[in-house]
Amino acid sequence: MSLSKKHSGHGSAKKMSFGIYLHMPFCRRRCPYCDFYKKVPRANELETFPSLLEKELQARAQNAPFSEREVTSIYFGGGTPSLHPPRDIANLLHTIRRLWPVKSNAEITLEANPGTIGLNEMEALLSCGVNRLSLGIQSFSERKLQLLFRDHDTQESQASFKYARQAGFQNISVDLIYGLPGETADEWRNDLDEVLDIAPEHASLYNLEYHEGTPFYRWREKGKLIPLNDETELEFYLAASDKLTRAGFEHYEISNFARPSLRSHHNLLYWTGSPYLGIGPSAHSYDSKRTRLENPANLDDWKANLRKSEVLTDEQWLLEWLSLRLRLSDGLYYQKTVETVGDSRAEALWLAAKDIDPKFAHVNHEHLALKPRGWFCQNDIILLLYKNIS
Ligand code: SF4
Repeated sequence: MSLSKKHSGHGSAKKMSFGIYLHMPFCRRRCPYCDFYKKVPRANELETFPSLLEKELQARAQNAPFSEREVTSIYFGGGTPSLHPPRDIANLLHTIRRLWPVKSNAEITLEANPGTIGLNEMEALLSCGVNRLSLGIQSFSERKLQLLFRDHDTQESQASFKYARQAGFQNISVDLIYGLPGETADEWRNDLDEVLDIAPEHASLYNLEYHEGTPFYRWREKGKLIPLNDETELEFYLAASDKLTRAGFEHYEISNFARPSLRSHHNLLYWTGSPYLGIGPSAHSYDSKRTRLENPANLDDWKANLRKSEVLTDEQWLLEWLSLRLRLSDGLYYQKTVETVGDSRAEALWLAAKDIDPKFAHVNHEHLALKPRGWFCQNDIILLLYKNIS
């Protein structure tokens, strides 16, 4: 790539933009509820992995659809990216900057687990350009952490958050899980109070799911884990939405809350159908023109470059578009919907939406958006709407 091309996009409003996701799959151990692609590293795997990511970055930069674009967000996800020393992250960022123009205010996020990262590492990450941390706290209850087989405790969570602030991070997100077997309203309320106490800029609250293929799924099948009932989960969800919005957070996506203007820029690319490039095993890419690329969820197959490509059919695209847009509190606007799916589909969509109980959605002639209660049963609502427009 010539120098002139490399620099031409800085600050240019014309250049098409995209985000980069890098999947770093290594974890100290495998949490039994997790269905992400992850592995405990064997000898040297952790050390040699970043050079494989660099190779893939170089290969993707040569070809459409990402070769001519400007990077507006970078996300190191996993797995546990914080198991890598900051110099690995610095080198990867250096490679990205060499291959593409990166917007000066690009959001650069790294996922970190409490207990895997100290103050020095946080300072080093900040100085190499990481400007947002996503901390996998999960809970402030030792009972919940043990039930989830997490390898950190609440003290380590508090310490990680403190180090992040001390290092100078001004945009910190925390992940929490709720709806565990036996979880009480008090336990959940305490988790939310602790979040408000440490005062992050962003919080992602996930309802525990029992994914097929995970130990949690098998334990539930065998009756070793008794899931919480739907009503209690809904109560927890609504209580969280209420508490955090009262405290000034915007509940801008089903599971996500942000201080004003601090929504996750990178994740919004997924939810708005914008282009993103996924690097690493199991990572997905999307060109925003209906082509999805999928890296194998296996280290050896990924190394062998066995990438799958899928062009979404009209029906698949429509269902995905509807599901993603209605995850967001912004929802859909009539005029924009007409421009995207045409007059007759927009009209049919609004007609069907008028029948939704107002407890679940805001609907007026120009705006359609789900409320938290609607998000909780989003799949049913999406299917109902989809049937009317497909
Ligand atoms: S640390 Fe995160 S990615 Fe790793 S196994 Fe646990 S939940 Fe999954």
